[in-house]
Amino acid sequence: MAGKVRVGFYSLTGCAGDLLSILNIEDRLLEIFEKVELVEFVMASSNVKPGGVDIAFVEGSVTTEKDLKALKEIRAKCDRLVALGDCAVWGGVQASLTGLDPRELMKSVYGTEQNLYGFLGEHKPLSEVVKVDLELPGCPIEQEEFIKAFVSLLRGDLPEVKDYPVCIECKIREVPCLVVEKGEACLGPITVGGCKARCPYHGVPCIGCRGPIKDEANVAGELLMLMEKGWKPLDAINRMKLFAARYKDLAKLVGRG
Ligand code: SF4
Ligand code: SF4
Repeated sequence: MAGKVRVGFYSLTGCAGDLLSILNIEDRLLEIFEKVELVEFVMASSNVKPGGVDIAFVEGSVTTEKDLKALKEIRAKCDRLVALGDCAVWGGVQASLTGLDPRELMKSVYGTEQNLYGFLGEHKPLSEVVKVDLELPGCPIEQEEFIKAFVSLLRGDLPEVKDYPVCIECKIREVPCLVVEKGEACLGPITVGGCKARCPYHGVPCIGCRGPIKDEANVAGELLMLMEKGWKPLDAINRMKLFAARYKDLAKLVGRG
């Protein structure tokens, strides 16, 4: 890439926590951004430059017609597109409503079945709409993971994608397994690592906020394990749906695939 790399940060439907996480890397932010030309980052500046970008970071799910139009425009003007955070990678917590009647949802929240905000009827991850070059999961993203990926992208490379479960990080940190030691229900076996097993390290079971391991999470096995721990099937599925509702194997399990 000749000259400064042009970078844009964009937000679709979500809580904006991923972009906030980036702004919160205060001690390294200037060092990171001095190497790039910031084209758009609405949360940081109202200054938006025209033209295309080399790298587009997009957070949020595709939930409204406005999201859909914005994402297609971003894809058309960027070289590489990075999905930031669970909403962009998996549709987010809002995607756990997948399969419910959108009119009923509208009524329960706004008191009318009318489609007030151009709701598409479901909450899609970016990859269901456009080509995505890299996905950084998390709710929110891990700052270290973002920095490493950013540096790789600036060099013109794509970082390695993590394909191992949170359990591996428990082993590395010598955290006693909450399932084995305490009989607790933990989603670590189906959740992609990268958080250094933050929750089990503090004695709290993983609820899967980094989303499932792409194409490899054994949700049927996890369901059996949760049922063995005394969970009712519906409760176990709802727990997994919180961050993995659009994972194809889980969709099959609940009869949507
Ligand atoms: S505590 Fe959870 S994440 Fe850690 S090893 Fe046990 S099942 Fe895996
Ligand atoms: S342990 Fe699980 S819930 Fe906790 S931060 Fe990691 S992925 Fe998220």
